[in-house]
Amino acid sequence: MADHYTARQMLERLVAIPTISSDSNLPLIDFVADYLTQHGVETHRTYDDTGTKASLHALIGPPVAGGVILSGHTDVVPVEGQDWTTDPFTLKERNGKLYGRGTCDMKGFVATALAAVPDMLNANLTHPIMLALSYDEEVGCLGAPPMIDRITAELPAARACIVGEPSMMKLVDGHKGSIGLNVHVHGFEVHSSLVHTGVSAVMTAARLITWMHDTMQANRAAAPSDTGFEPPWTTLHAGIIHGGTAHNITAKDCTFVIDIRVAPHESVDEWEDRFRAKAAELEAEIQQIRPEASIQIERRGRVPGLLPETDGAAEALVRRLTGDNSTEKVSYGTEGGQFQERGVSTVICGPGSIKQAHQPDEFLSLEQLAEGERFIARLIAELQD
Ligand SMILES: [Zn+2]
Repeated sequence: MADHYTARQMLERLVAIPTISSDSNLPLIDFVADYLTQHGVETHRTYDDTGTKASLHALIGPPVAGGVILSGHTDVVPVEGQDWTTDPFTLKERNGKLYGRGTCDMKGFVATALAAVPDMLNANLTHPIMLALSYDEEVGCLGAPPMIDRITAELPAARACIVGEPSMMKLVDGHKGSIGLNVHVHGFEVHSSLVHTGVSAVMTAARLITWMHDTMQANRAAAPSDTGFEPPWTTLHAGIIHGGTAHNITAKDCTFVIDIRVAPHESVDEWEDRFRAKAAELEAEIQQIRPEASIQIERRGRVPGLLPETDGAAEALVRRLTGDNSTEKVSYGTEGGQFQERGVSTVICGPGSIKQAHQPDEFLSLEQLAEGERFIARLIAELQD
């Protein structure tokens, strides 16, 4: 006999497997694969380089074009240093709310989809539902792209993808993209009285950061006002900087980390190129003084934006399922842009509020869980005869 779960029971099982991004998610993937296999659903894993993490995708229903992808991530953020009043990995109900790490971000959505698998199989689906469960979303959306490449290459083309990040079941059709870079300026040490013969890594870093500031001001001045994004322009920010040894020595090293949040109608890759071009220009300049000086740039993360689609299939579908005619933008990044840039019409809609995500005493209300279940039930009805 195959196991059956209510959405709540499924959520309890998923929360009990602590899939913090730094750890393996394989215990959860094994559980899901076993459950799907019991129900006769074929599962496909895509492992990371270490073999300790995997994404999982599966197709339920007829293998024809026009199905719908339900996308969720399996990893959760850490609980260290947070003041929890319950055990984060034991689902606990209190005052109509289910507490636990990942309840809203985003095992709640995953639980509603998985619990409904027997219903999907019993329904006479004319188009498939595809499950896409990733890893390493919380550390820069690193895990999904290889899985999405396989889904788009191996499965029949989907009409839409719904990313179930917490949106209070509202339709979200856009968010900014982001590029994270780590920068290391290698200078050349001399006494500061002879500054013209050395290269200060600190002063060079300051010039790059000033360029970021000036560029952001120009973006602001040129930004359209009616995009729905807050703020509507691309922002450039340096969050950490380290460097130098003494007030009278030109700094040998300076490192800083930057975060560029890209308006979705602009390209994250072009912004990375622009930063690299400016760095290359400064590098050429400092190498004229000391050939051993250099600027190294390492990419920490790349999350493409989710661009609102004109007459998008995903948006039309979610509107029919929710009856919601509003659209919202969000300030967080998701895997949605990674599906969209591979040609899949994509929106975000999922149970729970982003306000509870990543917080101590994270919760999902019973109402939101029930709304999530109704959403999946309507999707099944939409895709059957
Ligand atoms: Zn999330």
